[in-house]
Amino acid sequence: MVVIMKPGHTREELDRAIKEMEKSGVNVMISRGSETTILGAEGNAAGIDTEKMEALPGVERVMRVSEPYKKANRKYHPDDSVIEIALGVTVGGKKLLVVAGPCSVESEEQITGVAKSVKEAGAQALRGGAFKPRTSPYSFQGMGYAGLDLLEKARVRTGLPVVTELMSTDDIDYFAEHVDVIQVGARNMQNFDLLKRLGKVDKPVLLKRGLSATIEEWLMSAEYILAGGNERVILCERGVRTFENFTRNTLDLSAVLAVKKQSHLPVVVDPSHASGQAWMVERLSLAAIAAGADGLIIEVHNDPVHALCDGQQSITPAQFGDLMGKVGKIAACVDREV
Ligand code: PEP
Ligand code: MN
Repeated sequence: MVVIMKPGHTREELDRAIKEMEKSGVNVMISRGSETTILGAEGNAAGIDTEKMEALPGVERVMRVSEPYKKANRKYHPDDSVIEIALGVTVGGKKLLVVAGPCSVESEEQITGVAKSVKEAGAQALRGGAFKPRTSPYSFQGMGYAGLDLLEKARVRTGLPVVTELMSTDDIDYFAEHVDVIQVGARNMQNFDLLKRLGKVDKPVLLKRGLSATIEEWLMSAEYILAGGNERVILCERGVRTFENFTRNTLDLSAVLAVKKQSHLPVVVDPSHASGQAWMVERLSLAAIAAGADGLIIEVHNDPVHALCDGQQSITPAQFGDLMGKVGKIAACVDREV
């Protein structure tokens, strides 16, 4: 971090600025020019409050020269993180992780039926929401705990680990015991209480990108979980909100490259929520793998027309099977495997 003092600042103002920086444990280097004095922080400046610094008398401007995320930063962890989500199932290595299943758990027949067919097609994990973040309070809100029970049954029958969304800190202990990967939805990406609690949980967390979150904000949310001691964070690009409304969101594939450059954490892509349209899912999945994503999370429903949630963007098990064949081919081109 670099702090630029105002021309004509007083000795007291300078001392106060230095003291404020030193509070965070950094060493302050002073460089005096004929008109300006510049303070440079040597060491980890993540703890310095930029806004507070800027409000100090005599301070002109504060600039960060390194990223505010440390544990998520590739600089301090050059190798890709490979995260195990269940015995023998990993994400972040050469092998891609493909998660598939319905938006919501609806019944035992539905979830076990879809689980069996996606497993047969090559998925390594099952998705399905039991607690649903819906825009309307009148829409189906998910089956809650009964849905989690059905996910466990599907896991027993197929051996697939389950990925499902946690919305409230009240349910965290239950999730930690009964779920394989805890999903934080886009709408909760900056629910800092939830993130802090997840930092203390011994389960991998799938952290979706917020609706309008910058890459830095997203990585700072990952930092919350990592800072708490939980190192198993998987990022998920699921499209962001833009001016375009042909698609539900705009899939930001450049974010996959940016995040892979800035961070060691694995990134998977959700083409279903990104596009909101089933016919786009296959091509976007292939593009995501070509762009370097570590995996996919795809909505698959046995009867999309009658789905209780997100049927328009859900593909059928047969379409998912076709998609997996093509994903295998693209994966081979970029030195990955399914
Ligand atoms: C979901 O995965 O079903 C979901 C609600 O996703 P998002 O949080 O990305 O909207
Ligand atoms: Mn959905």
